[in-house]
Amino acid sequence: MVMTTVLNVEAVNRSFGDRQVLKDVSFTVDSGRLTGFVGANGAGKTTTMRIILGVLAADTGTVTWRGNPISKNDRQLFGYMPEERGLYPKMTVGEQVVYLGRLHGLSAADAKRRTTALLERLELAERAGDPVEKLSLGNQQRAQIAAALVHDPELLVLDEPFSGLDPIAVETVLAVLRERARTGAAVLFSSHQLELVERLCDDLVIIADGTVRAAGSRAGLREQHALPRFRIEVD
Ligand code: ATP
Repeated sequence: MVMTTVLNVEAVNRSFGDRQVLKDVSFTVDSGRLTGFVGANGAGKTTTMRIILGVLAADTGTVTWRGNPISKNDRQLFGYMPEERGLYPKMTVGEQVVYLGRLHGLSAADAKRRTTALLERLELAERAGDPVEKLSLGNQQRAQIAAALVHDPELLVLDEPFSGLDPIAVETVLAVLRERARTGAAVLFSSHQLELVERLCDDLVIIADGTVRAAGSRAGLREQHALPRFRIEVD
């Protein structure tokens, strides 16, 4: 499969009050690959992701999708899993994922079909009829991942998708993300666990204190011995 740079974050700056939390943040994300966005708590990962998704504006800098500024229509092609729980607690898991599929323009039949397939793939099928609030946190997280994936997004942005998951669930979610990448999606996910990301990703972007310290393929970064140097800072 041909890999193409689809997302370009260029020289993004953002301050809250007089505190600059993103400093000239630049990196790219390719289709067909898993890109891990790694940094300690507070490094600026969520802020960057929210700017990519258009939930938050950059002070300066640009984010482009396939070479152009991101439009509202492009955002229909994105899937987002926020770090905080974003599902309606009283709705059932199945209703919720179907509903989000419909919001992204799927027909009722397609939304249902994709929801069933995804919940099965994420080993949540048995919980499809349960209200979200009755699920364990790990299962709620998997439901959120299903919700982010239901419309088959071309860009998946996941904020800490692996935190709080047991090792088996990590492998299940990883397999689903890999499948998406194999069929051409670009997958960007954040984590504060460098070792996990090093194991899971094709590409890495390492951020510390609002500055990108290293970015590139896992193999390339290893070769430059960049990872051991950053381990101390990130963990
Ligand atoms: P975490 O995993 O803890 O969310 P992060 O790398 O995602 O870490 P951000 O959430 O992007 O980091 O936060 C970066 C910095 O910006 C933090 O110091 C945070 O307190 C600050 N920050 C984020 N959002 C706001 C806001 N709306 N107002 C003020 N400060 C903010």
